[in-house]
Amino acid sequence: MAKKTDARGVIYLACTECKERNYTTSKNRKNDSQRLELTKYCPRCRAHKPHKETK
Ligand SMILES: [Zn+2]
Repeated sequence: MAKKTDARGVIYLACTECKERNYTTSKNRKNDSQRLELTKYCPRCRAHKPHKETK
């Protein structure tokens, strides 16, 4: 099997307004005690909203 997935590094970014998961990203495990929060465009809200890390 050649497929190798490091699931621990993958996170979702969910809109704090509508809870829609709009983005997937990965992060370094050395920082994984902190919750990521980024301002991203939400297509459902049709505006830039803060997106928080979720699983
Ligand atoms: Zn939204």
